[in-house]
Amino acid sequence: MKKNIVAFGALLVLAFSVFNISCTQNQSVTSFQAMNTFMSVKAYGKNSEAAAVAVQKRVEELESYLSTTNQESDVYNLNHNQKASLEIHPETYNLVRFALNIAESTGGALNPVLYPVTSAWGFTTGEYRVPSQSEIDVLLENVDFSKVMLEEKGGKYFAFMPDKMMLDLGAVGKGYAGDEAIKILKENGITSALLDFGGNVQTLGLKPDKSEWKIGIKNPWDGSVACGISVSNKCVITSGGYERFFTADDGKKYIHIFDGKTGYPVMNDVASTTIVCQNGIYGDALSTAMFVMGAESSIKYWKQHRDFDLIVITNENQIFYTTGLKGKIQFMHHFDQVTLVE
Ligand code: AMP
Ligand code: MG
Repeated sequence: MKKNIVAFGALLVLAFSVFNISCTQNQSVTSFQAMNTFMSVKAYGKNSEAAAVAVQKRVEELESYLSTTNQESDVYNLNHNQKASLEIHPETYNLVRFALNIAESTGGALNPVLYPVTSAWGFTTGEYRVPSQSEIDVLLENVDFSKVMLEEKGGKYFAFMPDKMMLDLGAVGKGYAGDEAIKILKENGITSALLDFGGNVQTLGLKPDKSEWKIGIKNPWDGSVACGISVSNKCVITSGGYERFFTADDGKKYIHIFDGKTGYPVMNDVASTTIVCQNGIYGDALSTAMFVMGAESSIKYWKQHRDFDLIVITNENQIFYTTGLKGKIQFMHHFDQVTLVE
């Protein structure tokens, strides 16, 4: 099978206009590898270096609960001991509960138990393949996320995974880690920072020159910047079909975001979805879910909720953006259709 793997990772969203910092400003840039991606913390202020080191430690701690491959992690234990209810860390519990809530509100577009499906397609190992329909049919018998049981008892937290069901918090973990990172930066007195956790951008305060951060959304077709958004104290989180994919012998491109109803990688009208909102965990969950839902359903979801902003770039070179971004968005790419959704 022809493997044609492109990992854009940290290049998903490009931050720009952040380099014009005065020389008198204390600034630190810390980069590290965690949660299977490249992460960077750019922080300004006296304590910025120590704060960034604390962020890295915290992200590594979270990864130790949430990793699907670390044999000590809660997620690994739940995935390999499905017969018993297991005590888990309160943060794992909260993250699973959050993912299950969004799974329910998006009609299963976000589905945190697709690990056996993504594994069968090789996305967990890089050994890409197209499973047979009968193999997919069997896997689909175990993707009913409503069967995951959570229980809080006497200040302890437990989860139970039915047999053959496996968790994957890859669609929400980085967003939560970003929220924790922002908390740590604030505790360390930092008032201006920009995080890029594998394309999840989260901003703290304004830039040191008191202007808003300008965050670039990647053009899904050539990697250039399609549009820029001005934000402060917000996250800008994108899910894109171009981030990770392989091309199979049938010539088709199969991406890393899956439709839990078909067991196939998503193949709809969307090239990328971006969420702009206060919380990284919410933005991360929704960027994945809105990608699965496609343009029409994701806009409908936005109209029902309106507590985030949404940008959808379609495969037909159209862009839809919601009303909170009015005056905040700048286009660098020529779209055939630009629609403000109100
Ligand atoms: P993101 O990059 O945040 O959109 O998350 C994509 C990752 O989430 C994938 O690499 C999988 O690990 C996992 N995933 C894929 N499809 C789904 C889905 N429909 N719901 C939840 N997680 C998913
Ligand atoms: Mg996500």
